[in-house]
Amino acid sequence: MSSLQPVRGTHDLMFEDIRRHRHIEATAFEVAARYGYAEIATPVFEFTEVFSRTLGDTSDVVTKEMYTFDTKGGESITLRPEGTAGVARAFISGGLAQQTPLKFFYRGAMFRHERPQKGRQRQFHQVGVELLGVESPQADVEVIALAAHILSSLDLNGEITLEINSLGDVESRAAYREALISHFAPHKNYLSAENQERLGKNPLRILDSKTEIVDEKLLIKTAPKFEAYLNEASRNFFKAVQDGLAALDIKFKVNPALVRGLDYYCHTAFEFTTGVLGAQSTVLAGGRYDGLIKQMGGPPTSGIGWAAGVERLALMMREIAPAQRPIAIIPVSPAEETVAAALTHALRQAGLTVDIGYSGNMGKRMKRADKIKAAAAVILGGDEVRDGTATLRNLDSGEQVNVKQADLARQLTAWGLCPPSGA
Ligand code: ATP
Ligand code: MG
Repeated sequence: MSSLQPVRGTHDLMFEDIRRHRHIEATAFEVAARYGYAEIATPVFEFTEVFSRTLGDTSDVVTKEMYTFDTKGGESITLRPEGTAGVARAFISGGLAQQTPLKFFYRGAMFRHERPQKGRQRQFHQVGVELLGVESPQADVEVIALAAHILSSLDLNGEITLEINSLGDVESRAAYREALISHFAPHKNYLSAENQERLGKNPLRILDSKTEIVDEKLLIKTAPKFEAYLNEASRNFFKAVQDGLAALDIKFKVNPALVRGLDYYCHTAFEFTTGVLGAQSTVLAGGRYDGLIKQMGGPPTSGIGWAAGVERLALMMREIAPAQRPIAIIPVSPAEETVAAALTHALRQAGLTVDIGYSGNMGKRMKRADKIKAAAAVILGGDEVRDGTATLRNLDSGEQVNVKQADLARQLTAWGLCPPSGA
């Protein structure tokens, strides 16, 4: 154990990194709020059953990726690998069935034990939404429109495309399942042990596997497509979603190979992908999960939602400046330090963002002002202290004026610098 290193696949967030994260989360929430979504924060760990029952026992997440441990009391606990199961659990345990439709937004850390690489970590962050209790395809259109709206508000570098597919209703899925079994069973030997197990339990999942074995790849590629097995109701549903998106002028591609890995998905599945992140190309993914809440033991309730990977979005983002550029207080000599400290305090109380170097001569303190990208410097020498004034220098234009200390905030505002927060 090298205990002074972060655990593999985890990262410290600071400076530019955390500014990007916070900007993504804040933008996502602000846009989601406009669509009527309220924030929910569920615990980062749940009883293991919450995930194993909902994600299905053949999903990668459940079979390989969960951080599971026993408590001292002998209960099995799992760090959440995703957000939907916790929200569904909260819906059931909170008895919220009478309050549908419900719209939730969440943000936070997720945990999956997978191989770390660019855009893939063991502790990562998501923002996501869930819309509970709406059967109509209008819900699918709304959550996709919300996702597109958030992504465009983030002003990302690089093209993002929306792909959608339909996984049909229960009847269509059963028919498709049979078709997949007929396709794969005769060539079972070409499948990995894992996929052979999936063939028995959930053959759809085979389509989502990331194999490098040529024969297996080919077998997957030539599998029958879902579209041919959609019944009329499912076909109509899918058409309504596509028409709804077209009406909002949201561009999409139908990708028949898009199957969400989790057992509880039905009807609409969608992903927003980009070419600029290499292998980790999906930035946001979601779908409809009408069977989930019932399967967990709650009242039958339809649901649809998505989650976006904050790290992946952060990789696509331009730089984010700190929210407020500070002004720097600069005492010329130790004799002015007490007045400088009092002035710093007063300006902070007045709502300004103020920084003061703790030591050093004037030159060193001016350098620090530059480093922290201060918008202005307030220079206090012996004369200024005697007269109750300050020399205020605009660090962008170089303009300099002598003002009464009480007029500092007014002068800064006149220059369009450092408005008090809330102004
Ligand atoms: P992938 O195919 O990339 O493993 P997934 O299907 O496992 O993705 P979801 O469970 O749909 O991913 O999660 C939604 C989003 O969360 C992904 O599209 C991605 O942006 C992000 N995400 C998932 N796993 C990770 C991870 N380990 N590290 C960083 N981001 C992740
Ligand atoms: Mg994954």
